[in-house]
Amino acid sequence: MEKKPFVTKEQIEEIVKTYPTPFHLYDEKGIRENARKVREAFSWNPGFREYFAVKATPNPFILKILQEEGCGTDCATKVELMMAKACGFTGDQVFFSSNVTPAAEYAYAKEMGAIINFDDLTHLKFFEENVGSFPETVCCRFNTGGDFKISNSIMDTPGEAKYGFTRDQLTEGFRYLMSKGVKHFGIHAFLASNTKTNDYYPELARILFQTAVELHEETGADIRLINLSGGVGVAYTPDETPNDIMVIGEGVRKVYEEILVPAGMGDVALCTEMGRFMLAPYGHLVARAIHEKHIFKEYIGLDACAANLMRPAIYGAYHHITVLGKENEPCDHKYDVTGGLCENSDKFAVDRMLPKIDIGDYVVIHDAGAHGYSMGYNYNGKLRSAELLLQEDGSVKMIRRAETPMDYFATFDFTGLFDRFRDE
Ligand SMILES: *Cc1c(COP(=O)(O)O)cnc(C)c1O
Repeated sequence: MEKKPFVTKEQIEEIVKTYPTPFHLYDEKGIRENARKVREAFSWNPGFREYFAVKATPNPFILKILQEEGCGTDCATKVELMMAKACGFTGDQVFFSSNVTPAAEYAYAKEMGAIINFDDLTHLKFFEENVGSFPETVCCRFNTGGDFKISNSIMDTPGEAKYGFTRDQLTEGFRYLMSKGVKHFGIHAFLASNTKTNDYYPELARILFQTAVELHEETGADIRLINLSGGVGVAYTPDETPNDIMVIGEGVRKVYEEILVPAGMGDVALCTEMGRFMLAPYGHLVARAIHEKHIFKEYIGLDACAANLMRPAIYGAYHHITVLGKENEPCDHKYDVTGGLCENSDKFAVDRMLPKIDIGDYVVIHDAGAHGYSMGYNYNGKLRSAELLLQEDGSVKMIRRAETPMDYFATFDFTGLFDRFRDE
């Protein structure tokens, strides 16, 4: 499918008068429409809720938009819990799907009334010894082991993943938790990432629903909640077909009616904790071409770098690039599009066919709305960019300012050594 930016060159020329590149720009309209579709796709399940994975786009303005669309938050750390709390998410609007969790963070989650999703059997005793009694409702994360296959193709390898309880440990854990007075249970699994098929959730649901029925039969546990977690992918490349959440929701409904309803578990609430699917397509990294270079290859240098979006550098991930104002020109130039880190992996694209790029051109790097800004870092003294929101009325609001040198120096500014830079 053709990938079109949600902004035009004219809009960007207007925005840069106030906010210089590079910046992350989010599309409020797109975020809301997609969130509504997710809700509609699962509206057949009265208890359904999407818990947005905060790590994907940890910005309170984004969280607020999703809150208005009925989402909760999925947090993995105390700081993420704090952000959720600051935005007014409380109690069962918060899932705590953490791993290798310090005791103080469990305590914080318990205090908030978040639904704690235990990652391991040994964490149950750890929790009792270091935090105290269990909440009334507890969720456990399942790792099926081995390979996760859909129609014989390997989607991912849970057997190599650090997360979750084994199947036997789930039974043991549920029995233990029941003996400690836990009343209601949830189960959760995340078996494949960035999936490109509408079959992922239905296949995962089949495993979780079957497991829930078995666990209920074995232990008598009252299972109230099944969490399909994240993993629904987006079409990063133009030749991929985007997942259809309506088809996915319908696929999960069929399995629900096939497995849970006949087992007398037709009142179980479903939830998801998607990050990528909720935000990735609705964020652009906007940058400007500041250099060109003609050596053994043709290079275009941007004012953004891997510190603004590291997926291409660390995973070789494809992010589509549009040169604004040249949408209809032929892609007859082959470029490596790079940032300015002293790291040769700092390339947004390698051997990419694009229109001829001139210095000063604005480029949109697509699908940067999730795991984009949030994975940013400060290598080479590169400062994190601003985050801007393109609002539904077409106006732009800054939802995070760009870092200044003083932000970078803040953690060792003990002696006033850097005071002289305060205005730079
Ligand atoms: C990362 C993560 C998510 C979100 O994953 P996406 O692929 O962005 O949908 C959800 N749950 C947990 C526990 C995660 O670690």
